[in-house]
Amino acid sequence: MKCQRCLNTDREFFYRGSNGWYCRKCISFGRAMLEEDRQAPAVKPVRSGSEEYVLQYPLTEAQSRVSHQCAEAIDTTSVLLCCVCGAGKTELVVESISKMLKAGKNVCFAIPRRQVVLELENRLRKYFPKAEVIGVYGGHHEKTDADLVICTTHQLFRYYRTFDLLILDEPDAFPFRGNAVLHGIAETACRGRTIYLTATPDDWLKEKEKRGELICLKLNRRPHGHDLPVPVIRTAPTVILLGILLCWLKNRSTPRMIFVPTIRQAHLLHAFLSRFVSCSVCTSKTENRDEVIEEFRQKKNGIIISTTVLERGVTIPGSDVCVFHAEHGVFDEAGLIQMAGRAGRSFQYPDGDVLFLESSRSALVRKCRKEILEANRCVV
Ligand SMILES: [Zn+2]
Repeated sequence: MKCQRCLNTDREFFYRGSNGWYCRKCISFGRAMLEEDRQAPAVKPVRSGSEEYVLQYPLTEAQSRVSHQCAEAIDTTSVLLCCVCGAGKTELVVESISKMLKAGKNVCFAIPRRQVVLELENRLRKYFPKAEVIGVYGGHHEKTDADLVICTTHQLFRYYRTFDLLILDEPDAFPFRGNAVLHGIAETACRGRTIYLTATPDDWLKEKEKRGELICLKLNRRPHGHDLPVPVIRTAPTVILLGILLCWLKNRSTPRMIFVPTIRQAHLLHAFLSRFVSCSVCTSKTENRDEVIEEFRQKKNGIIISTTVLERGVTIPGSDVCVFHAEHGVFDEAGLIQMAGRAGRSFQYPDGDVLFLESSRSALVRKCRKEILEANRCVV
């Protein structure tokens, strides 16, 4: 027995209802009946000219090389595009998308988080002005068919063997990471090749590479050509860390993002820092999150305290980054690298500043620093 939607083969999850066997593992997406033959839905042909694209900036030499390699590789294999944060990974797959659209193939760009869908939809619409580009996400799925579909990984259940090219952005991010049902659904949505885009591949991707199911292409340089900012680590009791943080915050003309492990700590730190500097707070519980981020974005030297909710996808040009209590168990290596990767992303301020504050010595924090140094050393 095998579920045609999530690829589950564990018999414990199969139940027999009045209409036959169905899979309980992916039941949150509706009943998937086992006997039912799933058919690929009819999709309308890709319109001609949709492959034409314009990029905002020309690719650098290194980006062009990886972009060509990727577009060539997808003829024969899936690809893991492993690029440091801020390397412009979306731009690296534009050539591959164009090539597929030109051949009349169906392309989808899937991302774990909904807020990134909107941003990406706008960006790809500008890159591909003649193509029909749609975003599909929770509460927005009346139309599911277009030349280029941008969706959350959750919405992939609507597609069965539909895409000739599936681009999975940040497959190591929540909730896709380690989620067998979403992995299965992504696999059944695609009938061709997959491009995985990430700065921090997890074990699942590394295993795939070992098994020869994909090839890995690397880009360790940002378009401005500067090294990634290497975190400075300070270890001290919390009281002293607060003092170090205050010194770090004062007399700066750049935006600063402070990451904390929990929502409670975000509010405590906000209450403390507000006595000295003006700052805002952003967590998964913040109702007007988009407004708070926008306000921060508009300021030249704003300060925002955030949980890991902003660790990926949000780019504030020229910002510096501090991780407070970086030793906390909530943070994993990928998260620390992503947070450090928020800094130094602009051409005007490419070097950035990253500070990791810990109240006890953490091996993980040092491993993260080592990974960043390693990426700077192995520039391809
Ligand atoms: Zn299933």
